[in-house]
Amino acid sequence: MSFNIITPKNIKLIGTIVGILVVYIFATAQQLVLSNEIKPTSYIIPTIVGGLSGFLIAFWFSKLTEAKQQIENSHNRLKLVLEGTETGLWDWNLQTNELIFDEQWCRLLGHELAEVPPVLDSWKCRVHPDDLEQCYIDINRHLSGETHFYSNIHRMKHKQGHWVYILDRGRVLERDKGNQPVRFTGTHTDISHLKEIENALEKSNRELKKLSLKDGLTGLYNRRALDEHLDQDWGHWERNQIPISTLMVDIDLFKQFNDHYGHIAGDECLKQVANVLASSVKRANDMAARYGGEEFLIILSGITQSQANGIAQDIHEKIEQLAIAHQASTLSNKVTVSIGINSCDTEHPCPSHEALIDGADKALYQAKQQGRNQTVLYQEFENSPHKI
Ligand code: GH3
Ligand code: MG
Ligand code: MG
Repeated sequence: MSFNIITPKNIKLIGTIVGILVVYIFATAQQLVLSNEIKPTSYIIPTIVGGLSGFLIAFWFSKLTEAKQQIENSHNRLKLVLEGTETGLWDWNLQTNELIFDEQWCRLLGHELAEVPPVLDSWKCRVHPDDLEQCYIDINRHLSGETHFYSNIHRMKHKQGHWVYILDRGRVLERDKGNQPVRFTGTHTDISHLKEIENALEKSNRELKKLSLKDGLTGLYNRRALDEHLDQDWGHWERNQIPISTLMVDIDLFKQFNDHYGHIAGDECLKQVANVLASSVKRANDMAARYGGEEFLIILSGITQSQANGIAQDIHEKIEQLAIAHQASTLSNKVTVSIGINSCDTEHPCPSHEALIDGADKALYQAKQQGRNQTVLYQEFENSPHKI
C-alpha cells in the first residue's frame, strides 16, 4: 500500500493546522507585545513573511495536486482506451534486447504480467512460424528508416493454444548519435474478430462467385462460366497442341414435351438430362454448361473426335435408360437428344473457340435435319453429311 500525502483531504487538513498555528502564534505575539515583552516590529515582519510563505506553500501544493490529478485522469483514460480497443503496449530496448510488456499485452495472450519475462524471446517464441519472417522484414524496414511506422499483422499463440490475430504497430522513439535505433515502442491490438469477419466475407464472396457461374435450374455451369473457361484456357490448349472437343446437345422436340406435360415437367426433364451430361464430365479441366433453353455444351480437353463420339454415344444410351416418357414425340415414345461434335487438333485446327462452338452448332443443326436422336461430327459432315 502506498502512502500519499498530497490528497485534497490532506491539503485541507494541512491548511487548517497551518491556519490554527498562525492564529495561535499571532495571538501569543499580541499577548507578548501587550505585556511589553517584545516590540511590535519583532513579530509583524516574521508574521507577514510566515503568512506569505504559508500562502505560497499552499498554492504550490494545490497546483501539484491539480497536476497529479490530471496525470491520473489521462492515465485512466488511456487505460480505458487500451482496454476497450484490446490494445497492449510494448517497449523494446534494442541495445539490451529488453522488451517490456504491459499487463494488457500479456492479457491478450491469456497471460499474467509475471508469466512473461521482459525479453525479446517472450514475443518471438509466440509468433506463428509462418509469420515471423515477414515481421522481421517489416521491423527492419522501419529500423533502417525506410518506413515512418512499423506495422504488421501476425498470429500469436494464446496460452490456451489457439492463434490470435495481432495488429502490431510501432515507432522508433530514440536513436543514438550514430543514428542507430535505441528505443522502439508500439502496441499490439487483437483483431481476431475482424479477421473472422474478413474470412467469412471471403468465403461468402467465393460462394457468391460460384453461384453466379451456375445455372439455377440444372446446377450446371452457365454461359458466363463457359465463356470465362474458354477465354482462360483456349491459349493454353492452342500453345500445347492439346486436342479439344465440344459437344452441343439439344433435347429433341422439347416444345411438344412442354406443351404435352407442362412447364414444370419440362423443368424436371431438363434436370435429369443435365445430370447425365454432368456425369460424363469427370476431369477438372472439362466442363458441362447449359448453353440456352434446352441446349447444353460440353467442353472436353485432350479428347479427340473419335473419343468425343464415344462419349456422345454413351450420352444417347444414358438418356435412353432414363426412359422419360414423351408421348407427343413423332420420333420415339421417350425423350431423346441430338448432338453436334466439333473437335480441334493438329489435323483440324480451329482459329478460335467461337469457331469451335460454331462448328458444333452446325453439326447439331445437321443432326436435326437428318432426323434427330443422333450425333453428327462437324469435320465429316463438312465434306459429306455423316450420320453415326
Ligand atoms: P428441336 O428438336 O428442333 O430442338 O425442337 P424443340 O421443340 O426442342 O426446339 P424449339 O426451339 O422449337 O423449342 C424449345 C423449347 O424449349 C421451347 C421452350 O418452351 C422450351 N424451354 C426452353 N427453356 C426452358 C426451360 O427452362 N424450362 C422448360 N420447361 N422449357 C424450356
Ligand atoms: Mg430442342
Ligand atoms: Mg434448341
